Order: sequence, then C-alpha cells, then structure tokens
Amino acid sequence: KDTIDKIAAGEVVERPASIVKELLENSIDAGSSSVTVEIKNGGIDLIRITDNGCGIASSEVKKAFLRHATSKIVSDKDLISIKSLGFRGEALSSIAAVSKCEMITKTRDELTGVRYYIEGGNEVEYEEIGAPDGTSIIIRDIFYNTPARRKFLKTASTEGAHISELVEKLAMSNTEIAFKFISNGQIKLQTNGSGNLKDIVYQLYGKEISKALCNVDYEKNGIKIRGVVARPEVTRSSRNLENIFVNGRYIKDNIISKAVEDGFGDRLMQHQYPFCALNFDLNGVDVNVHPRKMEVRFSDRNFVYDNTKEAVEEIFTTQS
Ligand code: ADP
Ligand code: MG
Repeated sequence: KDTIDKIAAGEVVERPASIVKELLENSIDAGSSSVTVEIKNGGIDLIRITDNGCGIASSEVKKAFLRHATSKIVSDKDLISIKSLGFRGEALSSIAAVSKCEMITKTRDELTGVRYYIEGGNEVEYEEIGAPDGTSIIIRDIFYNTPARRKFLKTASTEGAHISELVEKLAMSNTEIAFKFISNGQIKLQTNGSGNLKDIVYQLYGKEISKALCNVDYEKNGIKIRGVVARPEVTRSSRNLENIFVNGRYIKDNIISKAVEDGFGDRLMQHQYPFCALNFDLNGVDVNVHPRKMEVRFSDRNFVYDNTKEAVEEIFTTQS
C-alpha cells in the first residue's frame, strides 16, 4: 500500500505548489468564501491552508485519505476528463504519503471537530477536538520519506514564487473567494472576494495595471470571452501576466496568447507582452482540457485564434 501511494503521489505531488493547488481546489470545492495559504521556506517546511468551507464529517475524515476516495458527484461530462486524468480522489492520499499531514476539520452540523494526523501515509493520531467550521490542513516536511524526490526541489524562493503565482491565478478565477497568502510570517497577497475582477487585479498587482484595464465582453459562435486586458502602456517583458482561463481553470496556451498579442497589433512593442485576465467559456466549443498539465486541445485552433484576436481588437475600436 505504501509503495502504491508513493507512486501515485509522484503524479500528483511534484513540488510544494502542486500540493497547494490540490488543497486549494478542495477548499474551493468545499464552498469556502475565505481561504488562507501560509508557507514557510517556500512550502518545503510547512504549508498550511485554512478554509471556512463545509468541512468533513467526522465519520468521513479517514476515508477522505484513502486512495480514490471522493465525495464529489461527477457528471457525465466530468467522466471524460477523469479518464484522461486518473487522479480523482487521489490528492489527499498522495500528499499524505509523502509528508507529515495534519488536518483539523469541522462541519456546521457537528458539535466537535476532528484532528487527524498522518505521517508518510500512516495514521498517527485521531481525536475529537473543538474547532471552527471549515478545514485547516498542515503539510510539513514534504518528501521527508522520499529523499530522492526532495533533492529535486528548487530553492525556497523559487518554490515560494510558484505558490504565489498559483494563488494569484486562483484569486482571479475565483473572484468571490477572499484569498490571503502568507510567506514566512509576512502577508504577501490579499484579495477581498468582492466578485469584481478589476478590484482583485488591483489588490494583486496594484494601481499601475489596474488603472490601465479595459473590459472584454465578447460572445460569438459559441465562444464567450470575458475579463480584462491592460492597455499597451503597461506591458511586461514576458508572458507571465497573460492570465488565461478556460471554463474557470487557469491554462497556458500559445495560440490564445499569440491571438491576444496579435489583437494588440503594432500597439505592442517587440518583445513586450500584455497583462490580461481572460476567461474563455468554451462550452459550445469542442475542447479537451487537461487541468493538471494546464493544457487544452482545441478541435478548431483557427476558430479560437480568430475569435480571441477579434475580442481584443474590439477593445481598441470600441473603448478607444
Ligand atoms: P477529490 O477532490 O478528487 O474528491 P481529494 O483526495 O482531493 O479528492 O479529497 C478527498 C475528499 O476529501 C473530497 O472528495 C472531499 O470530500 C474531502 N475534502 C478534502 N479537502 C476538503 C476541504 N478543504 N473541505 C471539505 N472537504 C474536503
Ligand atoms: Mg481534490
């Protein structure tokens, strides 16, 4: 069992940021309106995620850490992606297999909560305790029992930067959730969950970018593109701030990036890249999303390119 969990963990857990991603997705799924991410030493020593979501019933806590344990109702549509992903219900078991993991959780309906502690996948402690509604999970000493993998971790600042970037993306794609990110005791990012993307961008990136934002609200041929793009006076020298979401999930996609850039035309100087936070609602478009790899595959790439470019071009023709 140990070995299988460790192998499965290899697919889910690559670095601290992949743990944070899984845990944050769980917090989001749990209906939280507020989530705090705390890390020490880039997440290598400690990751703590605290949410105010639905919590886990005491009778379900141990089960949640079993492989393939999922409480989530899956629709036919989800099933397609599940097959290609093969990690549903694997996150908690995989994370617990390669770390020292403590969870405190309580549902609204129960009077007491549970504290559950697992080391390297082995149960150490289970007790009922008083706790606030919601879940808090602490991951310590990632890969302490797989030194070969631990060696591949980058410096704390690099690992921490991946986490910070991840929190930014999730804050922009879940604007109604208030996120707080604390690294080595310092608050690094904080959003208020107002639901307004422009507010969130301001809270994450500050005045310069937020002052330059234009709305994108485009709908045609089954493709919907909504969000914000900064005018070309604020650019970056890399694609880092081209934030693209498909059906609410952050992805990287060269075609969309290129289309956004081409939509700027010669307003964009060479080797300059825009800021954008754009969500593509592709429910009417044939698309295969791979969340773990943050990749999508479109059946018709030109269609996506053309519409994206047009959506950005419209900014300059209609909003001057
Ligand atoms: P999955 O998310 O694919 O169901 P996980 O291993 O990530 O699998 O989680 C297992 C189960 O544990 C979830 O289905 C959910 O019921 C429960 N769970 C995990 N994290 C939380 C959380 N923060 N709040 C409420 N329930 C949670
Ligand atoms: Mg999960």
